[in-house]
Amino acid sequence: MHTGVFFHPLFSKKEWPIIGNKFRRFPELLQDLLKLSRIQLFAPPEATSQLLSKVHTLQFLTDVQEEWYYQGAALSAGGSVEACEKVFTGELQNAFVFSVAAGHHAGPSYGWGGTYLSCSGPAVFNLREKYGRKKVAIIDTDAHHGDGTRAIFSGDPLTLHACFCSESLTEEDGSKICVDTIGQLSDNEYLEKIRSHFSTLVEKFEPEIIIHLMGHDTCKGDYGDRGLSPSFFPRAVEELKSLAEKICGGRLVVISMGGAKAELAENIIPQVIKTLAQRNEKEA
Ligand SMILES: [Zn+2]
Ligand SMILES: [Zn+2]
Repeated sequence: MHTGVFFHPLFSKKEWPIIGNKFRRFPELLQDLLKLSRIQLFAPPEATSQLLSKVHTLQFLTDVQEEWYYQGAALSAGGSVEACEKVFTGELQNAFVFSVAAGHHAGPSYGWGGTYLSCSGPAVFNLREKYGRKKVAIIDTDAHHGDGTRAIFSGDPLTLHACFCSESLTEEDGSKICVDTIGQLSDNEYLEKIRSHFSTLVEKFEPEIIIHLMGHDTCKGDYGDRGLSPSFFPRAVEELKSLAEKICGGRLVVISMGGAKAELAENIIPQVIKTLAQRNEKEA
């Protein structure tokens, strides 16, 4: 089965809030990878207002629709929706979604920090609308607290939200946790935190799909620097991919979040896509 890559040409044509034009060399930079028959490129559609209104208030949507970055945000949300649906139904094995002006700081009635529509919210609501009350696990390894995602899924025991940020806490019935990653960590130390805090939890939770909100702002030299090296990111995705293979048929969708350094995006993202597309041992 294929790995889907969701990228719209508009993403490389503007200076987006916070992340700038870090995708300026995409998708050309993926040319060699895209020649592999296991990787398929999709230009996402905009998420519909009908679906977005399940997650965001009408007043907030009306305000965001007037902003210059709306189309980018709606295409990012649309890519997330389509990727999660194709992976859920088995049309794709897993997927990587490029995202601009959308992500984890967008809550029901607000958006900030460069993100003005939710990506995971519409994706999960779409799955629920079409396929019933499915369990979903979201892991957020951006440097910052995913306040918007947390607010959208608050009170929803079917969505596990594990956010790696600056504090340690467990909320509600244990389906909402934050893991402290403050300070400078080695790649191995961060990976160990994923294993001990997320992997064990997700094995008990038994979701049908895992969504990874992957910021590279945590990389050395970017604005949320946690001391991580570029090779941490494919290793983290490898870890989540094995976990997904073990518990949910390999269904994993990685969505890009923060990080503004183009050279880091150019280094990290192709490695992550390559990792997603690598055959697992059973298939080989
Ligand atoms: Zn961030
Ligand atoms: Zn958090």
